[in-house]
Amino acid sequence: MTSEERPAALEAIAAEIRTCTRCRLGATRTNAVPGEGSPDTEVVFIGEGPGFHEDRGGRPFVGRAGELLNKLLGSIEWPRGDVFVTNVVKCRPPDNRDPEPDEIAACAPFLRRQLEILDPALLVTLGRHSMATFRPGARISQVHGTTSPVDPATGARDATMLAMYHPAAALRTPAIERESYGDIGGAPRALLDARARRAGAETPAAIDVAALDVVAVAPDVIADPVAPAADLTIF
Ligand code: URA
Repeated sequence: MTSEERPAALEAIAAEIRTCTRCRLGATRTNAVPGEGSPDTEVVFIGEGPGFHEDRGGRPFVGRAGELLNKLLGSIEWPRGDVFVTNVVKCRPPDNRDPEPDEIAACAPFLRRQLEILDPALLVTLGRHSMATFRPGARISQVHGTTSPVDPATGARDATMLAMYHPAAALRTPAIERESYGDIGGAPRALLDARARRAGAETPAAIDVAALDVVAVAPDVIADPVAPAADLTIF
């Protein structure tokens, strides 16, 4: 799909999501939340499901968890408008309960189609439900901060995922907040590795990016064989 075709393709899916009645969440939502961001991005952040403020406004991560997500992005100087942010389920579960497996399954084709269109190099999963979509059976406490290849059946053809805790968990627990800054600090390196994988270079199946101690990758400090130095931040 060309860059010119992507916005309309994403909007067509968003229009379907806004009128969707595939699961019970459609009956209780105020607004569906399809997701938003740059159609040309290399990086997609995937949360769990809309909360109160997202349901009100129809936009993802605009409440307190969203404020923290913005700070995490700020710590690596990635503008939020340059990534794409969406959720596993597009409608708010009542009282912010966890999404049920049948609700996740009903919504999965929307996420798959969004990923097919966006064709990201890097997925960043936020929380265990998002992680479980791409890395079933993993434990967030063990895999946060690590990357792994993404199954193309998810719609992301040739992507790498970086698992992170959900920002809401970080808001509740200072130790998780600290770890989240460390984990997102690995995102620029993870993007470089993701690009390298796409380019056919060999890379280990799972890399502990947190252990790499990369806090932020400044464009002028790392020489990379894959991307030109000026292209090291995502855009
Ligand atoms: N939590 C999520 O998982 N997604 C949102 O959009 C907001 C809060």
